[in-house]
Amino acid sequence: MALDKMVKIIPLGGLGEIGKNTMAICCGNDIILVDAGLAFPSDDLIGVELVLPDISFLVENQEKIRGLAITHGHEDHIGGVPFILNEISLPAIYGPALALGLLESKLSEMGLQDRTHLKKVKPRQRVRMGCFEVEFIRCTHSIADSFSLIIRTPIGALVHTGDFKFDLTPVDGELFDFASLARASDEGILLLMSDSTNTEKPGYTPSERTVWGKLNEVFARAQQRIIVTTFASNVHRVRQVLLAAMHYGRKVSILGRSMHKFAELSRELGYMKFPDNLLIPIEQIRDYPDHQVVILTTGSQGEPLSALTRIANNEHKFISIVPGDTVIISATPIPGNERSIANTINKLFLRGADVVYGKGSGIHVSGHACQEEQKLMLNLCTPKYFMPIHGEYRMLVKHCELATETGVPAENTFVLKNGEVLELTKNSCTKNGVVKSGVILIDSNREWRIDYETVDDRKHLSQEGLVMVVTTMGSDGKMLAGPDISIRGIILPQDVPAEEFVLLIGKEVENLLSGKNRKWKDEEHISLHIQDGLEEFLQKRMNASPLVQVKVNLVSVSSTDEGKDAPMTTGASEKNSRSPNKKQR
Ligand SMILES: [Zn+2]
Repeated sequence: MALDKMVKIIPLGGLGEIGKNTMAICCGNDIILVDAGLAFPSDDLIGVELVLPDISFLVENQEKIRGLAITHGHEDHIGGVPFILNEISLPAIYGPALALGLLESKLSEMGLQDRTHLKKVKPRQRVRMGCFEVEFIRCTHSIADSFSLIIRTPIGALVHTGDFKFDLTPVDGELFDFASLARASDEGILLLMSDSTNTEKPGYTPSERTVWGKLNEVFARAQQRIIVTTFASNVHRVRQVLLAAMHYGRKVSILGRSMHKFAELSRELGYMKFPDNLLIPIEQIRDYPDHQVVILTTGSQGEPLSALTRIANNEHKFISIVPGDTVIISATPIPGNERSIANTINKLFLRGADVVYGKGSGIHVSGHACQEEQKLMLNLCTPKYFMPIHGEYRMLVKHCELATETGVPAENTFVLKNGEVLELTKNSCTKNGVVKSGVILIDSNREWRIDYETVDDRKHLSQEGLVMVVTTMGSDGKMLAGPDISIRGIILPQDVPAEEFVLLIGKEVENLLSGKNRKWKDEEHISLHIQDGLEEFLQKRMNASPLVQVKVNLVSVSSTDEGKDAPMTTGASEKNSRSPNKKQR
C-alpha cells in the first residue's frame, strides 16, 4: 500500500491529562493540526505559570503543515497558539468566530498577527487543507460557538468531537448538529476520537438551562448584594447571570480582565444581548442600594490574585463582605484547586456571606458528556476504530470499555499516550512508534522557559530547606577563610539548637577536607566532595536531606607549585551545587 494511503494520528498533548490539547494528523506530505492548547500547572510545579506541549515534531515538519483547525475558545484548546507561532508560521487557522476573536487580540498583543491567517468558519463549512477536508459541525459545550470536526481523508472519514455534551435545550438555541453526524456516519466513519472528561460519571449531563431555575431562586431570595463567580469563558452562564440581573432590576459590575473581554466579544458576536446601562463601573456600586447590585467576577478557582479571593480576604479596594451578602460560586474546582476554593468559601462564610456552591446546589453543570451521552456519540458514529481523547489515563481506558459495550471490538480501541503514533489505513489500525513529546514549562512572567531541574530545586527547597557553605582554600589544602554556613527552612532535631547544628556542619566540612593530604583538581572537585559528604552526614545524623549548596574559592598560594593552575573562578562549583541529587559523579 502506498504511503500516502496511510493516515497517522499523533497527539502531542491532551492524552493522559486534562489540558494542552494538541493533535497532528498526517497523510503523505500533508499535516493538519487540531487545537493547540495549554495546561495550568499542578501545585507541585512551583512558580510555573503555564504548561505547554513540546512541539519539536511540528518545528521539524513545519513545511508540511497545511493549517490548524480550532474546535472552541477554551484555553486548553487555543492557549498554545501564540507559543507555536513564536516558533513557526502557520498557513491558516480555521475556527469559530468567538475563539478566533480571542486569538486575534492575543496575537496582536504579542506581535504575532503576521505569522498566520485567521479564518472564521460557519457551521457545516468545509475547508480543504492539503489532502484533508475538514467540516465544522455545531456541537454543544460550556462555551458558545463550539464545533466537532468531520475530517475527510483519502482513506475515509475521522470524527474529532472536540469538547462536547448533548445539550438538548441550549440557552443560545444552537443545537448539536446530529444530522451532519448521521450523514457522515452513513458514509462510514473510520475512526472516532471522543471527549473522555466525564467517562467516570454515569447518566447524562444536565442542560445548561437547568442552572436558570436555581439562579432565579437565589436571586429572588437575596436581600443584599449578589456576587457571582464563574469561568469567564462560560459565555452561557454569564449570559444567564446578566439575564437574571435584568429580571430582578439589578445593575452589574464586572471584575477581571478576562471576564470583561469575554463579555464584550460575546456581545459583539451576538452571543449575549444586554443594554449599555446594565453595566456599571465598580467605583459606582456605592451609588446603588445593595439589593440592586450584582458583581460578576473571576476567581472561581480560588486563584490567589483574583478579585473573589481578595474580597474573601477583605483586601479588595471597593468591596468588603457584610453579613447578608450572597456569593454564588458557579463552577466546579479543577482538580488541584479544591483546597484554595475551600479556603475562599470558609472566609466568605466567616464574613457572614450566604455562599451557594458545590455539587448538588444546581448552580453549575458540566460542559462535558457523561457516559450515556458518550455511548450515544458512539452509536451515532458507529466507527470502525475508536480512540478516546481529552482525559486522564483511567478515563481513556474507561471510555474504551464504553465503546466495546456499544459494539466496537475491543481490539479496535486504542489508548494512546502523548507522542505515540496511531497508523490508520482503510483496513487496519495500529500503534507504531513515537515522536518527540513532553512539556515546556513557562514561568510566572509568561516569557521564559523553566527547566525541570529548576522546578525540582524549588520543590526540594520548599520541602527540605537549604544548607549553604562558603569557604576559601589555599591551593596547599589549608582553609584560609570560613567555612561560613547558613541554614534556611530546616527542621532541626528537637535537642539540637541552630547554633550547634551549624557548628556540627562546620566541623564536618573540616573533617571532609583535612588529614588526607589531597590534591584538589579544581573548585568543582572540592565542592562535590564537600557536598557529597555533607549530604551523607545530614542524612545519617539528622535524618534530613536539604538542598546543599557549596561554594569553594580556591586561591593559589605562591609558595607551592601545585597552586599555579588552580582556577580562580567559582562558576563550576555554583553550577554543580544547584541540584545535589542530579549531579554527575
Ligand atoms: Zn472546552
